Amino acid sequence: MAVSAAASAREILTRLHDVMASRDRAQSKLNGVVNIIGEALDSEVCSIYLLREGVLELFATRGLDESAVHVTKLAMGEGLVGTIAANVETLNLAEAATHPDFAYRPETGEERYHSFAGVPIIRRERAVGVLAVQHADPRRYEDVEIEALQTVAMVLSELIANAGLIDSAGGSSTRPQSTSTERVTGFKLVDGMAAGVAVFHQPRIHIEHTVAEDIEAERHRVYAAFDKMRDGIERMASQAEFGVGGEHEEVLETYKMFAYDEGWARRINEAIDSGLTAEAAIERVQQRTRMRMREIDDPLLRDRMHDLEDLSNRLIRIVSGQLGTAAQLGLRQDSILIARNLGPAELLEYDRRRLKGVVLEDGSLTAHVTIVARAMGVPMLGRVRDIRRLIAEGDLLLLDASEESLVIRPSGGMEESFDAKLLVTQQRRAKFAKLKNELPVTTDGHRVALMVNAGLRDDVGALEVTGADGIGLFRTEFQFLVSATLPQRERQMRLYRDVLDAAGDRPVTFRTVDVGGDKTLPYLNHDEDEAEENPAMGWRALRLALERDALLKAQARALLEAAAGRTLNVMFPMVSEPWEFDEARAIFERQREWLGARGHKLPAEIRYGAMLEVPALAESLDVLLPRMEFLSIGTNDLTQFLFAADRAHPKLAMRYDWLSPSILRFVRRIADQARAADVQVGVCGEMGGRPLEAMALIGIGIDRLSITPAAVGPIKAMIRSLNREKLMAHTEALLQHPPRTLRQDLKAWAEENGVELA
Ligand code: PEP
Ligand code: MG
Repeated sequence: MAVSAAASAREILTRLHDVMASRDRAQSKLNGVVNIIGEALDSEVCSIYLLREGVLELFATRGLDESAVHVTKLAMGEGLVGTIAANVETLNLAEAATHPDFAYRPETGEERYHSFAGVPIIRRERAVGVLAVQHADPRRYEDVEIEALQTVAMVLSELIANAGLIDSAGGSSTRPQSTSTERVTGFKLVDGMAAGVAVFHQPRIHIEHTVAEDIEAERHRVYAAFDKMRDGIERMASQAEFGVGGEHEEVLETYKMFAYDEGWARRINEAIDSGLTAEAAIERVQQRTRMRMREIDDPLLRDRMHDLEDLSNRLIRIVSGQLGTAAQLGLRQDSILIARNLGPAELLEYDRRRLKGVVLEDGSLTAHVTIVARAMGVPMLGRVRDIRRLIAEGDLLLLDASEESLVIRPSGGMEESFDAKLLVTQQRRAKFAKLKNELPVTTDGHRVALMVNAGLRDDVGALEVTGADGIGLFRTEFQFLVSATLPQRERQMRLYRDVLDAAGDRPVTFRTVDVGGDKTLPYLNHDEDEAEENPAMGWRALRLALERDALLKAQARALLEAAAGRTLNVMFPMVSEPWEFDEARAIFERQREWLGARGHKLPAEIRYGAMLEVPALAESLDVLLPRMEFLSIGTNDLTQFLFAADRAHPKLAMRYDWLSPSILRFVRRIADQARAADVQVGVCGEMGGRPLEAMALIGIGIDRLSITPAAVGPIKAMIRSLNREKLMAHTEALLQHPPRTLRQDLKAWAEENGVELA
């Protein structure tokens, strides 16, 4: 039964194609299939077992007793067939009866056959059946024969799924080899707990057609897809638009290595030669690699395997033209999103009602995607290794970001204790909610202004819920990020007016658009040849706005009109030198004059401010302070520029502490200077939303914080239990002779002095 590799597989597939295209009933098709394979492989027995009601049932056979069809049944893990399905592995045995898992079934009459080879029929990464051949002679099957069987099994998976022959094809896609509960750990990015089913941001494509009609055409499809994929990778490498930061250098290198790997492309071509469609050929090669890798226990290789999986999936998506993310497909139930990394705009595309949590393989605390998740109140765990291997689409997940843990496929008991803990968390939240009407005043009578950061329309409700003093930072770019096209002035105006209406007497500070960096807008792409190597330090925020001044003019008009008759607080992001502030302010002033000249109602007052997040501004602050009404210190960007450490880089996320003397001394100097010039000053970075960090800021004299809404309760509780004067004296002393970080000292001080750190 010698089979010449591709040629025979192709011959089998051509014949299978005719059977599948026929109008026969599914059972007749299966009977046809076993005959074709039996003949082609010159095998005495060929059988198909399919999973029905959780057991593997003999559905068709050539060679075994006909009466055994639909009678012989094996549980998962039972006998050779059950073992193949349970382990999703191939068995190739010269003497079947000597295998420890062999289970003799008299009704089949299989005692005459010695050799046995079986391959799993795989759908959505789990076995849904087994294709087996048997022979009277005790012999091992050749590799090409096994290859041919595996290829046929792939085609069969299409046939049986289309015919609805197996248990709810793909209903639960849990892989049998990983049905057990697993617990993995990560890094807390956004606090909270969530339960939901796993949804991959980039869904796996389900291959509809496996047998090629025209092999040449399939080959061209794969060539074109390879070109497109390589282009994409080159673009990612040059623009660093690969998600938000992360260990992307390393990943990109690996991607490149695979994308240009001749061996990979050749194997896919060979699979196409055997008669598979482009999609099926890519998947077939991937299956083979997966099986081989499973035998190698090397974590490094497994990581690489993961990259290859990613790329292979990407290639299938390109070939099949299915490039959408899970957001476009829509979430159908409470879900936890899984991704290597995400951009803020990608996250905003998801339905907030159903998105309960996010798990990333990369991720860092101040990446904008994290800020957006925090604003959305979606718990997020980062830096979870190996998630694609451990989690299958549809698995139930319990995410506990506060414990930095993720439970995959929990047992009933685990769900119960999770629910119990969730209740406690909700009670804690309720306790903080009760503080809503209490003022953030320290025990020695100092009032701290506690504002919230916002950016989404729904965020305005946070003012009511938290009792905050106002919106200290309204990130206007969020509207741009959620929009498929540039929001027109009228639409911007409506949002700003609604926000001001909802805020009532409470002040709102609008920050002009801060796009660029990790907040890319597809409709505002600059030229490819201007691709940025380092977008965080690139053409972003005010730099972009001053150059594309039509954008800033439109926004100025929208803000001025929205604030008619009220106070408008405008803040410019990423001001590096005073003249940038002056130019931006002049744009607003010209718009004001233009509107005034045409009789439009103007704001009663305009207050201009700048964000201090580029250290250079600190050097010219004395020049700028007399020209501005307020200053807001953006510690997210400031930290990355002060330390020259990418805020989205996971490896650096833990390296520099917000409680390091450099940050605290720097912020203290700025704040002292602003106060001396009688300019209002506050902090609006994520740092202020963490109780210990916020305490440190109060310790250096900051008394105005704008923070994420969920943090208002805990920060208020901290403030209300704090003696500011005593803390300031302690912090001052610490900063004179500072340790590497003030974290331990401040924590101990808080404990000794009864400060409530949630
Ligand atoms: C900051 O940089 O600290 C800040 C508040 O702005 P963003 O996080 O939006 O860059
Ligand atoms: Mg910033």
